[in-house]
Amino acid sequence: MAPIVIIGSGMAGYSMARLFRKLDSETPLLIITADDGGAYSKPMLSNALSRGKTANALVSADVDEMATQLNAEIRAHTRVSAIHTEAHEILIGDEIVPYSKLVLTLGADPFRPSLKGDGVDALLSVNDLNDYDRFRHVLDGKKRIAVLGGGLIGCEFANDLASVGVEVNLIDRNPLPLGRLLPEAVGQKLLTALEELEVKWHGSDTVKMIGREGEQYCLVLENSAPINADVVLSAIGLSPRTTLAQDAGLQINRGIVTDRYLQTSATDVYALGDCAEVEGLNLPFIMPLMRGAKALAATLAGTLTPVVYPAMPVVLKTPAYPISVYPPPAGIEGKWHIEEETQSIRARFYDCDDLLQGFALGGDAVAEGSTLAMTLPPLLPK
Ligand SMILES: Cc1cc2nc3c(=O)[nH]c(=O)nc-3n(C[C@H](O)[C@H](O)[C@H](O)COP(=O)(O)OP(=O)(O)OC[C@H]3O[C@@H](n4cnc5c(N)ncnc54)[C@H](O)[C@@H]3O)c2cc1C
Repeated sequence: MAPIVIIGSGMAGYSMARLFRKLDSETPLLIITADDGGAYSKPMLSNALSRGKTANALVSADVDEMATQLNAEIRAHTRVSAIHTEAHEILIGDEIVPYSKLVLTLGADPFRPSLKGDGVDALLSVNDLNDYDRFRHVLDGKKRIAVLGGGLIGCEFANDLASVGVEVNLIDRNPLPLGRLLPEAVGQKLLTALEELEVKWHGSDTVKMIGREGEQYCLVLENSAPINADVVLSAIGLSPRTTLAQDAGLQINRGIVTDRYLQTSATDVYALGDCAEVEGLNLPFIMPLMRGAKALAATLAGTLTPVVYPAMPVVLKTPAYPISVYPPPAGIEGKWHIEEETQSIRARFYDCDDLLQGFALGGDAVAEGSTLAMTLPPLLPK
């Protein structure tokens, strides 16, 4: 019998495999991954420096341990090059591997900004353990970093780097950090806290060019004076990995399109995690991925189960000023109501019918996020 094949050993692939094994200990499972197959928690990458963690120290189980735990064959450092959905086969170079069901957990690629200058090649991004290892080595002994993008990941890195004494310049096209997610009053609180850590904020600005000057880089900005840096980190967003699925003729929108059962447009092919767009939602976070993994594990074990998404807030790992945010769904009209106290801020977004549709909580109010989320309409109801 052909195995269930999972492509990818990130949190989506491994979580689905773990949950599946709780329901079915027998069906052959083959996991194919381009990386080394070690299990790690990706969110830890953006606060690992201040905790003095090497890339190896972030691995909770290596590939052999994972194979034993999951009773699975795992092929590491192996890239799937094509999918033939009619034949129920994948290709690894010339090798043909059959599948009974195929699960795509391919993740997402960091956006590369299209910039001019001879320093552009040195631009780093941190999206997996290898990236983190490289980043840590490049950073060794360096004093100044420029971070492109003041969104979730850019702010987390800025906080982490500043707290270990690195001089951080943080550049973003929005006037305030997390400009697309937070109301102004909350963004301002985060900015003040980052500035207290001596992060230099360059809001409403963009980088035009990165030049190399010996060991250093010079960033030319659109609206303000140039910045010198020893290391340049890009955190301007991610794009779902869709090429493999697209070449196989699967339906693609922003991500690999799936229905409520994580089923793609091809029979017996499913998608989950950062690469997937489930009923129009591409949510590159842990909670949606875990919800999807649970539903898909049940489906593959024989009980057809739709994914249910409650309102799932994201908690920012910015100890300088922690934030829990659940932005109102796109297209909903309404107004933010702000309550501010010395140690906390609560911003609630009400629609025109006075229904709570989103929130941003900062400082001591962060702990209230999960309770408040339960009062919100689910994103994908039962
Ligand atoms: C720095 C950082 C901090 C984050 N912090 C948070 C947070 O605090 N909270 C939160 O909710 N989310 C956070 N996220 C997002 C979260 O980590 C991701 O949503 C999640 O880890 C994605 O898991 P995944 O399995 O879908 O993708 P990935 O972990 O990227 O896994 C993709 C896998 O696919 C494999 N692969 C791809 N193509 C092929 C191929 N052709 N052949 C074989 N293998 C292939 C790769 O090798 C890899 O194993 C953070 C992300 C980053 C980068």
